[in-house]
Amino acid sequence: MSLHPYRTAALPAGVALRGRRAVYLAPDPEPEGARVWFFTRLGGVSRAPYDTLNVSRKVGDDEGAVAENLSRVREAMGHRPVAWVRQVAGDGVVEVSEGGFAGEADAMITAESGLCLTVGVADCAPVALVGESGVGMVHSGWQGTLAGISGKAARRMSGGGLRAYIGPCIRECCYEVSPELARRFARRFGGDVVSGRQLSLPASIRRDLEEAGVEEVVDLGLCTGCHPDLFFSHRKQKPVTGRSLAAVARVAG
Ligand SMILES: [Zn+2]
Repeated sequence: MSLHPYRTAALPAGVALRGRRAVYLAPDPEPEGARVWFFTRLGGVSRAPYDTLNVSRKVGDDEGAVAENLSRVREAMGHRPVAWVRQVAGDGVVEVSEGGFAGEADAMITAESGLCLTVGVADCAPVALVGESGVGMVHSGWQGTLAGISGKAARRMSGGGLRAYIGPCIRECCYEVSPELARRFARRFGGDVVSGRQLSLPASIRRDLEEAGVEEVVDLGLCTGCHPDLFFSHRKQKPVTGRSLAAVARVAG
């Protein structure tokens, strides 16, 4: 097994670090018939606090740097067309069939091959859905998770054999919430998704996906708060940090 030049820390089993310029994490092995990209903060040109692969134009970063970063991200995704949404921390799911802006929503699904569905994240969980007849990408922060957006997106996808990949996000080690919010999550997803005021978004999302009938839920197991070398973390680097792209596409063969 060869080490990626950027590799700075041991990764959990089932995760590979990839990309020659824009560096991303991918499930290992990759799902059949789909590609998943969870981009890190590595391999871009932005300066602190956006160093280096920030993809958001809304956080105060230099426009030229963001354009170059997006170009590198597109290169890593094989120059496929890209669809994106205006994320509003809701539970909206849109079905898309071509690249471009797809409206206000926090999840996209598609049956098209070769179309990259993308969301921007910094602590919120990106969730990639891969099924026999399509793929989906979800931005799931605490609001979306509590609203069941991942399960909602999964239910919208027809056909069986659905698998989900929960990408890097803030985890229970780094995510203290109010007692009230912890209670709401425990009531909705079960007492084991919280420990005191420490909330596990991935455990909550896993419960939601399992209730929606997803056959296999793969949690990549990486905490954005614990790995500042690899990820932007809104909580740990506030008030200002970058955003990383997460994407999924169906591929032929
Ligand atoms: Zn952590």
